[in-house]
Amino acid sequence: MSIYQDIGLKRVINSCGRVTILGVSTLSDEVAEAAVAGGQSYVVIEDLINRAGEIISEYTGGEDSCVASCASAAICLTVAGLISKGKKSIMDRLPDSKGVPNEIILQKGHSIEFGAPISTMLRLGGGVPIEVGTVNEIIPEDIEEAINEKTVALLYVKSHHSVQKGMVDIETMIEIAHRHDLPLIIDAAAEEDFRKYIAMGADLVVYSGAKALEATTSGFVTGKKEYIQYAKKQYHGIGRPMKIGKEGIMGLLKALDLYENKDMKKEVEENLAKVQYLCEEINKIPGLKAIQIQDEAGRAIYRTRIMVDPTVSDKKIGEINKELRAGDPIIYCRAEFLNQGQLDFDPRPLCEGDKELIVSRLKELMKG
Ligand SMILES: *Cc1c(COP(=O)(O)O)cnc(C)c1O
Repeated sequence: MSIYQDIGLKRVINSCGRVTILGVSTLSDEVAEAAVAGGQSYVVIEDLINRAGEIISEYTGGEDSCVASCASAAICLTVAGLISKGKKSIMDRLPDSKGVPNEIILQKGHSIEFGAPISTMLRLGGGVPIEVGTVNEIIPEDIEEAINEKTVALLYVKSHHSVQKGMVDIETMIEIAHRHDLPLIIDAAAEEDFRKYIAMGADLVVYSGAKALEATTSGFVTGKKEYIQYAKKQYHGIGRPMKIGKEGIMGLLKALDLYENKDMKKEVEENLAKVQYLCEEINKIPGLKAIQIQDEAGRAIYRTRIMVDPTVSDKKIGEINKELRAGDPIIYCRAEFLNQGQLDFDPRPLCEGDKELIVSRLKELMKG
């Protein structure tokens, strides 16, 4: 029994991924212990934020880092910092940024929704999102011509949520930003490489703590010292309602330490085995067809994709999804390609016995 069942909620089989609607990820004992220990003593919070920034930077290669309550908060603090540049008179009136440079340029195909619109996070920090190009095609001139004296930064969103084709790449974005003396921010919230984008020359890179790191609910921005100082200052302004607790910070630092020594190859192999099990077993169910797919953003994440064979069954894929979510335990898979008749099962968050339960539930549903 989980603590959630104790208060009358259904158990969840998460085959969706590290998603906010299901609590993102679960804590290892070591991360949980660090969070508990962190919560049981006092500390000078400003010193903790500064020290955490130094420690995070050892894992990213950034000059400094600013810890945050989540990646969305880190985006907001970053933008507020770039707009106020440490000036208290501006900080004190954010998100009202009238009269000072406040425009953030991003490609139209990057203006994503990850449970909330990214443009909301920019606005919350006083930013004005300037979307350029079209949803399926953008050229460097679209970005160049949008830059003016009100521009404070360019933003690149590295994510499977973004449109993948027809966009201007990171290298070009960095080149354009630097030629205009502007910083490039990369939202890499769900990415698994914490050094790559700093090494490429990005000025500020945002990560989520609970996604790849499987840390306590947290996030951070890492990069150029000057900009990071501006972001940290926001904790005395717009950052206050998004503060991260000491327990969350200590959980994040422990997770970073564990991540460095994680056997990624073994984990990918274990997940692939789960994907193959699901494919094999689901292909035995009359009316269903299952295949192995790889993550759209090219990460080493494999999933099982299922479809209904209309020559065998007239069951609708949408019905299957609804029924999976209505049962007990609740089964959540990825429904982002439901309109194309597909449901995707992510093996990574599955616990012992979950994959067998998924197969038996699908069997029942196809019979019924
Ligand atoms: C998940 C995600 C976010 C938000 O991260 P939180 O830590 O939940 O705030 C932002 N951007 C992208 C690309 C994401 O995938």
